[in-house]
Amino acid sequence: MNKRHLKGRCIRIGILITVCIVPFLWAPLAGGEIRDTKENLQVPHVPILLYHRFGPAVSDSMTMTTAVFESHLKYLRDKGYTIISLRRLVDYHLGKGPPPPPGSVVIVADDGHKSIYTDMLPLIKKYRVPVTLFIYPSAISNASYAMTWEQLREIKKTGLFEIQSHTYWHPDFRKEKKRLSSDEYVKFVEMQLKKSKDRLERELNIEVTMLAWPFGIYDDWLISKAIEAGYVASFTIERHHVSNIDSVMKLPRYLLHNGDKGRVFEMILEGNYRERNSIGVSTRRYNEKNS
Ligand SMILES: [Zn+2]
Repeated sequence: MNKRHLKGRCIRIGILITVCIVPFLWAPLAGGEIRDTKENLQVPHVPILLYHRFGPAVSDSMTMTTAVFESHLKYLRDKGYTIISLRRLVDYHLGKGPPPPPGSVVIVADDGHKSIYTDMLPLIKKYRVPVTLFIYPSAISNASYAMTWEQLREIKKTGLFEIQSHTYWHPDFRKEKKRLSSDEYVKFVEMQLKKSKDRLERELNIEVTMLAWPFGIYDDWLISKAIEAGYVASFTIERHHVSNIDSVMKLPRYLLHNGDKGRVFEMILEGNYRERNSIGVSTRRYNEKNS
């Protein structure tokens, strides 16, 4: 075979692979079934970036300076990342939407701290990117550190934010399980999951189907209760990208701290920041502050 024929054959094989195989590699997959490793390399890997509170200075481990947060938004824009809504990523995992484009990133924030309104909102309006907030309603219009329902309604009106559940009062389910009788614990969990969903839906006129586990604490039984309560996706704080090997009820999120800037932030986005399954570390940091 001469060189020209060989080249033509290679091109034809290339086209065949592209046309016949690639579309299957991008097919959506519900329920986090495991696909083979070779194929998994081709499917979208999307980091979910999790923030909590912002301010001019770092007052605790869960606060990021507003300047560092803006540096993240600027970096993502300048490097051509596409910030997609969490809903879009979940729809893909549920087999209800197309795959996210390459270079997709998701932004979320937990707890409903008042700095979401004062510091995050102006930047989100400036950069025009979608954000999902996970809220525990008992704090709203109640705790001094939290937003009000009016502020949440104003945030929702921008069309840039989606608001979802973080249980009713952010319990530590491990402690509650030890403290309560088994009947009491079942009732407690049902209340935390349902009351949060109901209150958010009523106050904000929205549909709540996504849940972020407080302190990243979950188990298979809690997940079954979440499904029973009407949630279709739930989120942990494991530090790795979302891919098709993840169950839609255990989607991982990178809990970001003020130190996650510059090269560290780049490595997180690239999936090269190896701290997989570090719930213990993240939970410890969180518990230290909140205990
Ligand atoms: Zn939280």
